[in-house]
Amino acid sequence: MTVIIGDDKLHEECGVFGIFGHADAPALTALGLHALQHRGQEATGIVAFDGVHFTAERHIGLVGDVFSKSGYTAKLKGDRAIGHNRYSTTGGSVVRNIQPMYADVSGGALAVAHNGNLTNARALREELVKGGAIFQSTSDTEVIIHLAARSTYGTITERLIDALKQIQGAYSLVALTSKKLIGVRDPYGVRPLVIGTLDGATIFASETCALDIIGATYVRDVEPGEMVVVTTDGIESLKPFAAKPHRFCIFEYVYFARPDSMVEGHNVYDVRKRIGEELAREAPAKADMVIPVPDSGVPAALGFAEASKIPFELGIIRNHYVGRTFIEPTDRIRHLGVKLKHNPNREKIKGKRVVLIDDSIVRGTTSKKIVEMVRDAGAKEVHFRIASPPTTHSCFYGVDTPNEQDLLAHKMDVEGMRQFINADSLAFVSMDGMYRAVGKANRNKAAPQFCDACFSGEYPIEPTDARGAKRQLSLLAEVA
Ligand code: SF4
Repeated sequence: MTVIIGDDKLHEECGVFGIFGHADAPALTALGLHALQHRGQEATGIVAFDGVHFTAERHIGLVGDVFSKSGYTAKLKGDRAIGHNRYSTTGGSVVRNIQPMYADVSGGALAVAHNGNLTNARALREELVKGGAIFQSTSDTEVIIHLAARSTYGTITERLIDALKQIQGAYSLVALTSKKLIGVRDPYGVRPLVIGTLDGATIFASETCALDIIGATYVRDVEPGEMVVVTTDGIESLKPFAAKPHRFCIFEYVYFARPDSMVEGHNVYDVRKRIGEELAREAPAKADMVIPVPDSGVPAALGFAEASKIPFELGIIRNHYVGRTFIEPTDRIRHLGVKLKHNPNREKIKGKRVVLIDDSIVRGTTSKKIVEMVRDAGAKEVHFRIASPPTTHSCFYGVDTPNEQDLLAHKMDVEGMRQFINADSLAFVSMDGMYRAVGKANRNKAAPQFCDACFSGEYPIEPTDARGAKRQLSLLAEVA
């Protein structure tokens, strides 16, 4: 029996990387993708170009397994490459959906790797299919390639711009042609994309941690609505789209991005610590120790502990060697569930009043089990503090979220949630507290400075496809 270990977290769906002008481009891309592993663990791929041929390796599995053991990296040739890490639900995890997607279009070959989610992909796809397009995958990234292929513009850059002008949604994408590496961010700038440099080569990556691993220097972020085109002649910055208000995903700070990344000028670890400090001020607790739910709760717990002057302790230990799936030999041990991943440090916890810190509550199932586990370990009181506001709405911009009705905070108020997880007290950081942690005085209610739709329900980009079908990946479900 195969059991999915329910970590009850939201999952980022992709990380992208691209490099132009380096003799070791494919190997550096594999390393960059390794640093971006947290953005997608189900499949990975690289497309490279050596001046004559494109080569591609796209496989299900972790970057380290795919590109170190199999020798695939050696098969990729050229001084330019793009790569992609994918997270998807089980139905979408088929080889034909693995990116980068690649096709021959008028004017040459085009490979695309995309982080985000198109909110009108289904509508566009239906139109394209009616017009005779034959899709090879269920990925919305292929819609971009079809639109570029059908464009009447002359150059591939113009065709790509024409395609992107027809789509709605969140995207940070890298594209590779025989002559160009292109990095582009949607006009709202929902997903991150940075530019780096190494030995004269230009690099695009979802996060700065992918630059650090190869010793590259961070140059700047790609701006919202900016298309950066890299050729042997140099770098060109284009602004082909109508300007929109900046709506970077605030959840990147709370959970998705790696804590050592710099995101839009802020160190992610520092932001998470500051959220913990805000939480301690807004929702103090009388307790003997502050315990993070590892790993994502650690920085906020440190901030909470420092601000409240309550000792920080590793009262829960995480097993780092548990994959997403686990083969259980019998039904009888299925109840072990959460203990496969987390174990209480009993000697620390016994007889103590503890504050548990986690980054978010999604369905609430894991939170409930963790409270139970800590109580079973002898805790006298369990106070739960959450380093984000209640997650009340689904995301349609590239994060795999449950249906709205499955989100605990959509179904009940904070007191209801407290009872559900059986904590002595439960509190979430306020929206303003989270905004303060990212350097804003407060949330501008008339024009929020970030996308915070999963907390507020205020979607900055119309979720066109989702009207009537609330879960983004099911929109493009596998054809039976
Ligand atoms: Fe990020 Fe939430 Fe907006 Fe999705 S809805 S982009 S997770 S803030």
